Amino acid sequence: MECEALAVSSFSCPNFEMERDYCMRLRTDCVPGRPGCVLAKNSVFAVPADERIGEKEEAKRRGCARPGDSQQGT
Ligand code: SF4
Repeated sequence: MECEALAVSSFSCPNFEMERDYCMRLRTDCVPGRPGCVLAKNSVFAVPADERIGEKEEAKRRGCARPGDSQQGT
């Protein structure tokens, strides 16, 4: 199964749990800029958060553990 990279970021957030790509603040998937995110009101994203939330949900439905995992090591 092929999965596409959905986001790349160098931002480090204290609420981020790397192992699950999870937001401990919002208790859901980390999608920077999503409602309730610390970045939601002070950052601008090339791809709107709502669109990235939808892409992440679609990747999970397709069985991708984390967006971009299939591109590691390429
Ligand atoms: S959604 Fe926002 S607040 Fe939550 S872990 Fe990701 S960057 Fe941090």
